[in-house]
Amino acid sequence: EVLIPGYLEQSARDFPEKTALVFEGYKITFTELNDMVDTFVGVLRQLGIKKGNSVSILLPNLIPCVVAYYAILKMGAIAVMNNPLYSDRELLYQFNDSGSTMVITLDLLVERMKALRAKTQIKNIIYASLGDYLPFAKRLLFPLVAKKRKLATDVQPGPDLYSFKELLDKNEPDRTGVEIDFDDVAMYQYTGGTTGVSKGVMLTHRNLSYQVQQIKAWFPTFRMGTDIMLGALPFFHVFGLSVSMNFAIAMGWANILVPKPQPEPLLEAISRFKPTFAPLVPTMYIGMLNHPNIGTSDLTSIEGCFSGSAPLPVEIINDFEKMTGAVIVEGFGLTESSPVTHVNPFQGTRKPGSIGLPLPNVECRIVSMDDGVTDVEQGKPGELFIRGPQVMKGYLNRPDETRKTLTDDGWLHTGDVATMDADGYFYIVDRIKDMIISGGYNVYPRDIEEVLYEHPKVQEACCVGIPHPKRGEAAKVFIVLKSGETATRDEILDFCSTRLAKYKWPVEVEIRSDLPKSAVGKVLKKDLRK
Ligand code: ATP
Repeated sequence: EVLIPGYLEQSARDFPEKTALVFEGYKITFTELNDMVDTFVGVLRQLGIKKGNSVSILLPNLIPCVVAYYAILKMGAIAVMNNPLYSDRELLYQFNDSGSTMVITLDLLVERMKALRAKTQIKNIIYASLGDYLPFAKRLLFPLVAKKRKLATDVQPGPDLYSFKELLDKNEPDRTGVEIDFDDVAMYQYTGGTTGVSKGVMLTHRNLSYQVQQIKAWFPTFRMGTDIMLGALPFFHVFGLSVSMNFAIAMGWANILVPKPQPEPLLEAISRFKPTFAPLVPTMYIGMLNHPNIGTSDLTSIEGCFSGSAPLPVEIINDFEKMTGAVIVEGFGLTESSPVTHVNPFQGTRKPGSIGLPLPNVECRIVSMDDGVTDVEQGKPGELFIRGPQVMKGYLNRPDETRKTLTDDGWLHTGDVATMDADGYFYIVDRIKDMIISGGYNVYPRDIEEVLYEHPKVQEACCVGIPHPKRGEAAKVFIVLKSGETATRDEILDFCSTRLAKYKWPVEVEIRSDLPKSAVGKVLKKDLRK
């Protein structure tokens, strides 16, 4: 067993001069990253952080985000990853729920953090600047660009307010060891809040470490030290954290940091830095495929893509693979399981539309939704239960929710309806909470969404249940059309009616310019329902 910071030490030993992180062309090696982490351990100690204290990180994918996270884990404190785009209300909830005593953020957010600090237990604020780790030429230009964009980059250190770069430059590595148990909580990771209030998931050092080993076991090991990761999934979400950050560090790969994972910067980063492996979420594939720059971008370096966090329409897999020559493997997971539990084989048989096979040491059950205890027959749908070493300790401050989700003998109730085929491949039918019961039939929005993605004019589609006077509930679809296209409600309904059983036909169509999404690009169905 190796602790997460131990993987970084291993890579610093095995690949000392290899590039670990790349931001806009500025590179640091594994040795430099490991030294920065040890220096930041000392900084945290000097500022009074002790083992077991919570420290919030509120940063996009930048070098300081990686350094701060590894240092917090290394000294036995608890990392709390927050989304920098969250509102004050959302941040206050997470700071207070987690009991954070320090926040590490961006210069742009310092004024807001100062105002929020009074309502929390936070004492010190450490800020990084976007301009800190830029290649020399860009660093010179940065003040001009920042001024033009009215970015608040002139923050000066003050009482309880410190510059990340200054702290690192002024201090030396602190390699004093600390006793860490694999069962200690390493981080509080908040769920996406797609279905309701976001919950703090307690992930232990064992959970995070095992997850890396499981992904390593899935990937060909001879690729240690050989590949280039596209670090575009936000590290403040557990998918990006485990797959794009921790896995890349453990494999000794260079990681291309993309702090703004929008289609244009993504296409640019891929063309420029030639990553070989790209974990992304479905909306990122869709966004790139529909961006005008796709034709002039060079995506041929990518060999493997990993998709998870929401269903990936088969139509999108086909289009993206045809365009890039890359292989997309779909996987599945939840924040509560660090997150990955299933994935299609990278080299063996991939089944489009399936989430693949369980990772090593993951046990699965598909349980009847009628009684909640009986395993269904193979091929039949039921709720997916999971047990494994990457499954959380529980929810922070929510013992009732923990009891509902995690049984005493370790089974995690995913809240997802799944099936398993005769070869042992799993399929996510839909979330139980999103299921529509229409005239007594179960309608899975995903079936309708898959059909809509086959429509040549549709760029994005989403389906939710709405009240219906006769059927109780019925399907309403929300659509974003491809640029320059027009479509009528009847055209969309006709398309569905020739491809779906009658009880699944949507009753309403709303065409929109975009859909509300979470930080990782998941469509927020609860907002659409409202
Ligand atoms: P909250 O739990 O707060 O509502 P959230 O569900 O967005 O937020 P996550 O832990 O990020 O929090 O998401 C886990 C869920 O994502 C799974 O339960 C499942 O519904 C969905 N999911 C993940 N991967 C896939 C996939 N490949 N196909 C379909 N659904 C997926």
